[in-house]
Amino acid sequence: MADPRGFMTTPREEWPRRPVGERVRDWNEVYVPGALLPLVNRQAGRCMDCGIPFCHDACPLGNLIPDWNDLVARDDWRTASDRLHATNNFPEFTGRLCPAPCEAGCVLAINQPAVTIKNVECAIADRAWEEGFVPPRPPDRLSGRTVAVIGSGPAGLAAAQQLTRAGHTVAVYERDDRIGGLMRYGIPEFKMEKRHLERRLEQMRAEGTKFRTSTEAGRDVDAGHLRARFDALVIATGATAWRELDVPGRALTGVHQAMEYLPLANRVREGDLEVSPLSAAGKHVVIVGGGDTGADCLGTAVREGAASVTQLDIYARPGAERDEDAEPWPTYPKLYRLSAAHEEARELRTAPVADADARLFAASTLRFTGDAAGHVRSLHLVAVDARRRPLPGTGRSLPADLVLLALGFSGPDRENGLIKQLGLELEPRGTLARDAGFATNVPGVFAAGDAARGQSLIVWAIAEGRAVAAAVDRYLTHGPTRLPAPIGPYDRPMTA
Ligand SMILES: Cc1cc2nc3c(=O)[nH]c(=O)nc-3n(C[C@H](O)[C@H](O)[C@H](O)COP(=O)(O)OP(=O)(O)OC[C@H]3O[C@@H](n4cnc5c(N)ncnc54)[C@H](O)[C@@H]3O)c2cc1C
Ligand code: SF4
Repeated sequence: MADPRGFMTTPREEWPRRPVGERVRDWNEVYVPGALLPLVNRQAGRCMDCGIPFCHDACPLGNLIPDWNDLVARDDWRTASDRLHATNNFPEFTGRLCPAPCEAGCVLAINQPAVTIKNVECAIADRAWEEGFVPPRPPDRLSGRTVAVIGSGPAGLAAAQQLTRAGHTVAVYERDDRIGGLMRYGIPEFKMEKRHLERRLEQMRAEGTKFRTSTEAGRDVDAGHLRARFDALVIATGATAWRELDVPGRALTGVHQAMEYLPLANRVREGDLEVSPLSAAGKHVVIVGGGDTGADCLGTAVREGAASVTQLDIYARPGAERDEDAEPWPTYPKLYRLSAAHEEARELRTAPVADADARLFAASTLRFTGDAAGHVRSLHLVAVDARRRPLPGTGRSLPADLVLLALGFSGPDRENGLIKQLGLELEPRGTLARDAGFATNVPGVFAAGDAARGQSLIVWAIAEGRAVAAAVDRYLTHGPTRLPAPIGPYDRPMTA
């Protein structure tokens, strides 16, 4: 422990965000550039180096958090980077995008603000790139074995990098025209600039991973052909089947799924389109769904110049403090959290509703109504109790020219040709079935990430990618593997 009194003398301080008025005029990350590094040594020094670091276990990757906190506090960035990359292929992604269940499990968080673990992780990752600590690591020799990874989200990329480094020849097939999965076309630039993704992909190409874009396995290339051509397949196709809202008026124009809206905004940023065909500019926008996808729609609509934006959440507003009986430390509690997008909505007063940060809690959508041309103009809702029963006399309407449905995802697209051509079995809830070694019912075919776990998080996707790589390596070599496996598929509950 670099500073035994750090947690008593240094208050928690987070990477500051840029002023709202400035950041909503561009699409860059919300944080003040260059403001993280000067903070981070002292923040890392708040770590108590506990005998039993619960943060390890709370992180799905098992990141060695106290080790790198100590190294950062001592200014040994190179070793900190080595320790961090030993458990996480892409810490610059998690350092920006992870909801940090580790911080909920930090021992300091029992009665004080947790160590800023996520910020320290991000600082190590960024500095490692700046200082050249993460050159490509191509394998010393090739195994002669081949693997096709289907899907290039964080699960597919982590699996591909691990297997390439182990000496196997890996090709990643992606149906989109660019690599990255939801990190490319779902998550907006203001949460993570795509240059971080490009830099990692360059590293992976230099290590020998091959990428085949605009190629849908099961449509553009037959899955049986892939199975015959490669020694193993990893299916990491994500959970893209979105949930619907079956209420009157759903068919009106202007009612769209979040994942129809967000990719278009991301394509504008990539330079593919001048303006999004679904742009929120000048429109009254209502987002149905209180999660992170909804918050991403909110931040995007604000930047596009919406006339108003409201986000509806069917759940009651959570409390600001952990409920120790229902969700005791070190579990990840459901709390009222103010994301960057909500902070923007609050300051700009985007919503025509009383709740100042644009969210209406305990609100259930009844129907949409439109104009003579069949375009949505209003959303009608009612307040509900904890069992989602309507409360009499609470009906109201909101102006709505653009409605975005952000109700989550049920699993992989069942119509995906890949599933049918390979004859993959599904779990009753719709995800790909697999055993404790990540193997599907088809020999040599493995499954990882949201496609098998269900809608989850980037940190889980990377953990699954690392673990499936270890399973595939064992399968290919008929022996032990040197690749680490942070998780088994069913060994933990979904924490965050
Ligand atoms: C809008 C949004 C915001 C999010 N924000 C966060 C966040 O801030 N933090 C966080 O931790 N998590 C976030 N998540 C969740 C996170 O993005 C996912 O859990 C994660 O990306 C899952 O990774 P994956 O590799 O399993 O799948 P995905 O990232 O979904 O990638 C799957 C890829 O497979 C491709 N594919 C599918 N079928 C085929 C086929 N037949 N052939 C070839 N390619 C195919 C798809 O095109 C896609 O590129 C967010 C999700 C959404 C929707
Ligand atoms: S990956 Fe997420 S849970 Fe793990 S240390 Fe980083 S912020 Fe914490």
